[in-house]
Amino acid sequence: MGGRTILHVDMDAFFAAVEQLRRPELRGRPVVVGGDGDPRKRGVVSTASYEARAFGVHSAMPLRVAYRRCPHAVFLPVDFAAYRAASERMHAILRETGARVESLGLDEAFLDCTGLPDDGETIARAIKARIADELHLTASVGVGPNKLVAKIASGLVKPDGLTVIREDEVAARLAPLPVTVLWGVGPKTAARLREVLGVRTVGDLAAMPEARLRALFGPRHGAHLHETALGRDESPVETDWAPKSISRERTFQVDLRRPQEIRETVGRLAREVAGDLREQGYRTANVTLKVRLVPFRTLTRSRTLTVPTDDPAEIALAAARLLDRVPLDRPVRLLGVRVAKLSPASDAAPTPCAGAGPEPDPAPPA
Ligand SMILES: [Mg+2]
Repeated sequence: MGGRTILHVDMDAFFAAVEQLRRPELRGRPVVVGGDGDPRKRGVVSTASYEARAFGVHSAMPLRVAYRRCPHAVFLPVDFAAYRAASERMHAILRETGARVESLGLDEAFLDCTGLPDDGETIARAIKARIADELHLTASVGVGPNKLVAKIASGLVKPDGLTVIREDEVAARLAPLPVTVLWGVGPKTAARLREVLGVRTVGDLAAMPEARLRALFGPRHGAHLHETALGRDESPVETDWAPKSISRERTFQVDLRRPQEIRETVGRLAREVAGDLREQGYRTANVTLKVRLVPFRTLTRSRTLTVPTDDPAEIALAAARLLDRVPLDRPVRLLGVRVAKLSPASDAAPTPCAGAGPEPDPAPPA
């Protein structure tokens, strides 16, 4: 598939940076955020500032080990409310680019910028500038033809980095990196690759015949290793803020009686909903009509579409067919059209959006 533009935005040492921002006396000092902030108690490091990382402190490390390595660091408890507030502002900036945004927790996100007027690097610069101006924080951004490459790119230069990897540079840029930068290559797989095949870098892995990888790791994992070593990844950016449904309805001051008028109103509502749907970048696979007959009898009729659409004519037609199934034996007081089962309009293969649940409450290394 050609020509996707994906960004990976990763806030730098996010929790520690938020703490240093609100407590200027901590700037330039090693700061370790984790647990309840007492390094003698159990708990792990959520985030270490870059000053603390210089002493070998990193996220997921037990606080006691961090204390041994850097006893003069300032240890602070995790304050999710503060990080969430900064995260919401960061995400708002990302969404305002017009890109589709897939949040990966509080401090990271993928953006699909395919089809936006500006190129990926321009959008990345604008995001970094706004995060610096408005949040007084820094982010590292990777730009690539897919999520895998964008994520690797954002990790290459940190903090405050901006790394662009074009499609034709992928092989050369990934080749010297250790295989552990790839998804699905943990310490165990990396050890096996090194011991059995002598593979250390992505370039080494890309040069391995796929058949050998399949034989060693099984068909699924072997094929995956082969694909990722070549920098290939077709997974879509999945928005997690998709609405569950979009609807329009109208209550009439004067009840509608003439079938023609009812029919026209349903068509108009359907086209308005289709307009909202297009504006927000979704397609629908389900249309529902709501009709309230005088005095208060409410009927709904629903129809699932075989192919998701954002075409106003198709949605209006579906709504008209639903209206045919409603006995209009009394005047109509209210009409409504709702579309659900929404999927992003720009995906080649539409994937239904799960409902936007509340953000999980992670204790992510940031
Ligand atoms: Mg981060």
